[in-house]
Amino acid sequence: MTNKQIKKVLIVGGGTAGWMTAAALSNTLKPDYCEIELVESEHIGTVGVGEASIPQIRTFNRSLGIDESEFVKRTKATFKLGIKFDDWGKLNESYFHPFGPYGLNMNGISFHAFFQKLYTKTINNNALEEYSLQAMASRENKFMRPVNAGNSPLSNIAYAYHFDAGLYAQFLRNFAETRSVKRTEGLISKVHQNGENGFITGVSLEGGKLIEADLFIDCSGFRGLLIEQALKTGYIDWSHWLPMNRAVAVPSQSDKNLPPYTHSKALSAGWKWSIPLQHRVGNGHVYCDAFISKDKATAQLIEELKTPAIGSPNHLQFTTGRRKAFWNKNCVAIGLSAGFIEPLESTSIHLIQSAIGKLLQMFPDKDFLPANIQRFNKVTDYEYERIRDFIILHYHATSRNDSKFWDYVRTMSIPDTLKEKIDLFAENGRIFRENEELFNDTSWFSVMIGQGLRPSGYDPIAGVQSNEETAQRLQSIRATIAKSAEVMPLHSEYLSKNGLID
Ligand code: FAD
Repeated sequence: MTNKQIKKVLIVGGGTAGWMTAAALSNTLKPDYCEIELVESEHIGTVGVGEASIPQIRTFNRSLGIDESEFVKRTKATFKLGIKFDDWGKLNESYFHPFGPYGLNMNGISFHAFFQKLYTKTINNNALEEYSLQAMASRENKFMRPVNAGNSPLSNIAYAYHFDAGLYAQFLRNFAETRSVKRTEGLISKVHQNGENGFITGVSLEGGKLIEADLFIDCSGFRGLLIEQALKTGYIDWSHWLPMNRAVAVPSQSDKNLPPYTHSKALSAGWKWSIPLQHRVGNGHVYCDAFISKDKATAQLIEELKTPAIGSPNHLQFTTGRRKAFWNKNCVAIGLSAGFIEPLESTSIHLIQSAIGKLLQMFPDKDFLPANIQRFNKVTDYEYERIRDFIILHYHATSRNDSKFWDYVRTMSIPDTLKEKIDLFAENGRIFRENEELFNDTSWFSVMIGQGLRPSGYDPIAGVQSNEETAQRLQSIRATIAKSAEVMPLHSEYLSKNGLID
């Protein structure tokens, strides 16, 4: 061990971010390398939402060696094949954003080039869904994990989960504690900093206990106890593009149909989610208080519930945006303390996972090299901004004009980076995935088409196939996908037959 080695990491916060960080760090940094402690306060509690994920979470769980079936049972999880959007592009219209690609092998040319060539003037959301196994299976609430079936799309079913966030944190807590993470219950009342360089040296709990460390991970949620309240890092506010600033959440009784997707329905000044779990449905209304009152937003949510509510509504406030620096001095912000884009595409838990991965790749020593910190911040900025653009697209690319809210988002200015993407698509339907941006061309395509954008032409590369060949190929893909969806079991049956229900 060199004298520069980090010997103690303190994680502040025990929500999803805190326990994911504790689990991953303890799995990699063995106890004889450095000590890990996590402080959380039952008095403050956790944000209590955040239950829909994207497929990358499977990589996170696998990297910890977590058994999937045990995870599903213990967190009362269900499987997720994508998101169904109602009333976003237009009232009474729906589309599905599936995980996994559209189409099958297209000889290296993107599926959407051929799709656009064939459908140029007649593209509709239902037609597009027929090229996605996830979307077709979801229509009938079907699900199965991939099986070994050669070239069949059944060999390659991309999926994620809906899970109970409290149970997931408990599950990871157990994992981390068995790997020597020390958990301390207490309310942090003071953060101590070095008088010369401002680095954090320790925190004091109410009652006086002092906990010192070398590296601090701020997982304290929206309050940003270390990164903002102590280090005054600053916040970049994106409310002009993403005006949502409140949410009201209420669980309801379980839906026996167990839809294998998150449902997002656009309302007059925001949108409503419903997330089916084994034992309940998580519901919430994300809205902007400049366009609707708290009482009306709550009433709209209750009106939309498909099953009777359980308990009383939980109200939350936030400002969309990101911290000016995610890593500042010897403090790394992970989770809501780092920023919040809003939950429309279930990206926050992914951003936690991604930050943990980068932290482990760039794990510091006590020198805290500025170049290392800058790199971490640069890559994370990029990641946040690309996700931000993708979310803005959902609001901006709409023809809804039935409320002041929709008039605002439809006509607002948008970031240049998003404008470039939309302009390119408008020409000939091309979409480029840049660097390591999270959402690939399938995602952009499904949302662009779903929200009503139509390119004026098609990608010239689709000319490599005649119209007849293209029509035949697409017809055969539709048939294969329909046949595959047919043999899939109901999601509810799949869970019970495989012993996945607790
Ligand atoms: P929190 O859960 O708020 O945890 C903060 C922790 O810090 C708590 O343990 C608290 O006790 C502790 N703490 C704070 N102050 C102190 C103190 N002074 N002393 C000691 N301890 C302290 N993400 C998704 O990926 N999918 C979704 O579907 C999704 N939906 C969402 C819906 C809404 C409305 C919102 C607001 C968020 C949603 N998210 C979603 C985001 C997701 O909820 C968060 O990313 C995730 O829960 C992580 O939160 P956290 O751990 O950073 O913060």
